[in-house]
Amino acid sequence: MCEFCHKHGEGEKWYLRAENYSDDLLSDLRRRKFIADFFSLTETTPGLIERVGRLRVMPRFVKSAVVTHRVGRWKELHYGQVLPIEDVERVLGVVSAVVRLPCYCRHINLGTEQRFCYGVSLAPQEGEMFRIIKEIDMDYLTGPDTSGLEELTKEEALENFRQYEKEGLCHTIWTFVTPFIGGICNCDRSDCGAMQTTVTEGVPHMFRAEYAAEVNLELCNGCRQCMRVCQFGAIGYSAATEKIFIDHLRCYGCGICRASCTKDAIELRDRVNVPVAANLW
Ligand code: SF4
Ligand code: SF4
Repeated sequence: MCEFCHKHGEGEKWYLRAENYSDDLLSDLRRRKFIADFFSLTETTPGLIERVGRLRVMPRFVKSAVVTHRVGRWKELHYGQVLPIEDVERVLGVVSAVVRLPCYCRHINLGTEQRFCYGVSLAPQEGEMFRIIKEIDMDYLTGPDTSGLEELTKEEALENFRQYEKEGLCHTIWTFVTPFIGGICNCDRSDCGAMQTTVTEGVPHMFRAEYAAEVNLELCNGCRQCMRVCQFGAIGYSAATEKIFIDHLRCYGCGICRASCTKDAIELRDRVNVPVAANLW
């Protein structure tokens, strides 16, 4: 169990607790302001990659202190966790409504509207979260070519998530002033700020999933398709055995490799049961 499960999940998966999606948490004015600022593209993410990148040239002890402080703040405000598709489905079983909206990171990094992000709400139809978003003046939602917030059924949303998985995108769930959960994203290391800070820069902005991947070598034919889609560099190939191997020190448990394997040779196991990965978050 990750730190948030202990703090916000009473020992269960924190993102499966209905309270963490509730409108009650949105009576906190600080949280409402954070959400409004976040989606207004004000101070939060623009420049994030550059700022984190500057850490590379800092003396080690300075970097360590800055990272500790920064990660602590992110955990208070906006922090994520990787989710495999089965837990996305469980989350959709907890919430009542889903909207799709343009991805914040792609907007900043690519300058284009790409609809990979999903807002979730426990309130039927339009909860406070969606009302807050709708009241924001979001340029990137109101241009001539956008369709604003799209309301989806949970079945439609899940179908989209399954399709993203086939395309190699990693599902992540996010807090907006922790522990309130406001959305699920579909991330690509090339464009997602949080994945870049976490994986490329080694400054965590998300937890690994509660799972880690295992390969069944009897089923693996060594085609290496899974290696191509792993965004975390966790899969290697053995020329001696002509099979892949999974580096559990790097595996985030996203399950994208599993979706790509036509031999059903990869499964996700509870992280706690994978000794090398059990305490890696
Ligand atoms: S995709 Fe499946 S069969 Fe191919 S190398 Fe990976 S685990 Fe083995
Ligand atoms: S090995 Fe599989 S489950 Fe682990 S990070 Fe890579 S794609 Fe995700």
